[in-house]
Amino acid sequence: MPRIIFMNDRLVPEDQAKVSVFDHGLLYGDGVFEGLRSYSGKVFRLEAHIDRLYASARAICLEIPLAKEVVSKAVNDTLAANGLSDGYVRLVITRGAGSLGLDPNKTSHPQVIVIADTISLYPREFYEKGLRIVTASTQRTQSAALSPRIKSLNYLNNIMAKLEGLRAGCVEALMLNHKGEVAECTGDNVFVVRDGRLLTPPPDAGILEGITRNAVMELATAAGIDCREVTLVRHDLYTADECFLTGTAAEVIPVVDIDGRTIGSGMPGPVTRRLTDAFHELVRR
Ligand code: PMP
Repeated sequence: MPRIIFMNDRLVPEDQAKVSVFDHGLLYGDGVFEGLRSYSGKVFRLEAHIDRLYASARAICLEIPLAKEVVSKAVNDTLAANGLSDGYVRLVITRGAGSLGLDPNKTSHPQVIVIADTISLYPREFYEKGLRIVTASTQRTQSAALSPRIKSLNYLNNIMAKLEGLRAGCVEALMLNHKGEVAECTGDNVFVVRDGRLLTPPPDAGILEGITRNAVMELATAAGIDCREVTLVRHDLYTADECFLTGTAAEVIPVVDIDGRTIGSGMPGPVTRRLTDAFHELVRR
């Protein structure tokens, strides 16, 4: 069955969903995107994703030619058109077709693309036994160069780190900022548990402020678990009682080994399990 894609103003079969080879999204990675999940027919935190998309676009002076409500509706319509109630949505805005130079003023219309598909989760075993990750030598881009808070089409920084992870046999890799502080993983935010307290790097450590991250922080607070944004270094991860990652695709996933060092007991810990259950409960609601 061909998928149905939303392109700019209508739903079209995937073979008709095309962008120009002159699109600056392709030529320069000039654009922004979002990854969203739908559970039982409802998109999780749709408004937060739409707000982050428009903030990313604003930060690169890209004016999305549709109102937020129209883009939100396109997300729901695309899921429905593909008969997906539990699915993954990729929302992409490119700068549009232009000349071969960098100048974004010489592009025409930004392209608004919504793709819905089934979600391929990590194998169950990773959730039950925990992930092994390594620290990448590739530093997270400095905010002064390109803010990691912008979810841009330019993911090479993360891809370079992901390659390092994959070469070490790991599906995720930890990224440090230029000061050597823990930032995030290539596509997930990172948390540790120390003495019953939940700790995660602040936005200015050079992270994408994950929507799953924010949901987990709220769930922790509601469950009476003290949760703080603090600067973390690798020492804090190596000596933590528990560690886990959060992301739209991964949800909450335990980490039990970093750089060949066992974290805590070497098994997913009680706080991680509690927050995983709370997250599943939240998305079910
Ligand atoms: N950091 C990066 C670099 C990401 O690309 C993502 C999204 N995949 C995340 C963190 C997690 O964010 P969210 O919970 O909003 O998916």
